Amino acid sequence: MSPVIRFTTSADLRQGPVKIWKQINPNKSNKYKFLSFFIKFSIFIGQKLLKIRQKKYDEALKDINKALEIDPNNSYALWVRGEVNLKKENFDEAFEDLNKALEIDPNNLCALEARGEANFMNDKNDEALKDLDKTLEIYPNNSHALVLRGYVYYFQDDYDEVLKNLNKALEINPSDVFALRIRGDAYIGQDKFEEALKDLDKGLEINPNNTYALRARGRAYKSLKKYKESIPDLTKSLETEPDNVLALNCRAESYRELREFDKALKDVNQALQNSPNDPDSLTIRLDIYKSMRKYEAALTDSNELMKLCPHCSRCPCANHIGARGNIYRLMGKYEEAHKDLNRALEQDPKNIYALSIRGRLYGVLDKYEDALKDINKLLEIVPNDIWALTTRGDVYRRQGNFNAAIIDLNKALKIDPEHSFALRIRGMTYYSLNKHKDAIRDLDKSLKVEKDRDFKIKMLNIYHRMGLYI
Ligand SMILES: [Zn+2]
Repeated sequence: MSPVIRFTTSADLRQGPVKIWKQINPNKSNKYKFLSFFIKFSIFIGQKLLKIRQKKYDEALKDINKALEIDPNNSYALWVRGEVNLKKENFDEAFEDLNKALEIDPNNLCALEARGEANFMNDKNDEALKDLDKTLEIYPNNSHALVLRGYVYYFQDDYDEVLKNLNKALEINPSDVFALRIRGDAYIGQDKFEEALKDLDKGLEINPNNTYALRARGRAYKSLKKYKESIPDLTKSLETEPDNVLALNCRAESYRELREFDKALKDVNQALQNSPNDPDSLTIRLDIYKSMRKYEAALTDSNELMKLCPHCSRCPCANHIGARGNIYRLMGKYEEAHKDLNRALEQDPKNIYALSIRGRLYGVLDKYEDALKDINKLLEIVPNDIWALTTRGDVYRRQGNFNAAIIDLNKALKIDPEHSFALRIRGMTYYSLNKHKDAIRDLDKSLKVEKDRDFKIKMLNIYHRMGLYI
């Protein structure tokens, strides 16, 4: 079942029978018919809906059952009972009532919408869309149905349709927190984090404790590299849902970036306890171990991931074997690294990650021609890859081709002026060019942005030995 958030029945559709009447009968031709519709709709149904909203399901059922005894074919009463069953997650009963309601009155908008929701909750997305399309054909301004249809599209990863539906829904009802958080999430799915933040900020202004919106905003902050800002949101969301793997993983990643490794490990281990063998959690833990330079532990997780990955059991797949090759490289086990990276690139000759890592490995092994082959191929695929530009700059520098090196490094630093690795390599290149002032400026800056303390001290010692007093 989809992780559906229970909807309230607060749609304007259900509160405003007048609106529907106008939509269906623009000329309001029959006053009496309208009055009867209105009474049926708002008094009886309204009372039951209130009970549903108050979660007094059994009370609502008692009344509705009585009404259906007298009038078993009342489409609206059937809808309300279907709605109660839907809220109680008695799906079979809900479908029975809603189907019957729609047999009697195929244009019963409320029943259509409710069945759409029921279908969605049962992962029948195509059926859900059919119902919602029909509802919205008859009554295009039903904001609740628009939000629901947007949510169905969200699960189909069709972000254009998500935005189309939610933009319209939010025009009608700008403070719908549910709509805001779904649109926010859809923006995250499209890497439009600033837009996502706008929606989530607004949603959280209205309802500061909305767990889902808190989690989504935490994720958006993390993606924007605002790691510190992401922590309080994720922490607050975890107060309500302490076992949420997505939030735990996300906070672990933020802590890793902030180099608070103990906290990061605690989160990711808890995530793995709640959801053993979750590949995302394992990948995150592997990265934490890598940042801590605990390569043996990273290697164990890497092997574990290859066991879990369905592709690795057949191939193994380029991503996982490439990742293990990188750990071997970091351990200084160059032969194993080379073997894994070759296998990864046999599987997938254009694998960006494996190309980048093998290029760097060749660089370290002084195999400059081989390194350039990999890096050039990578830059053909991704012309602005900052690591590739920096690595090629480094290879050129080692070859004594300083001017070519500076061109690549300038390009890299234009993309990210605070890239510690690119700053360090350009600084070293300036040193070789006897431009010591420029060298000191870059190396100094690279040390300032470098977060790894041990590495910083090591580099500082090297610079001092080179006669550069930074
Ligand atoms: Zn794999």
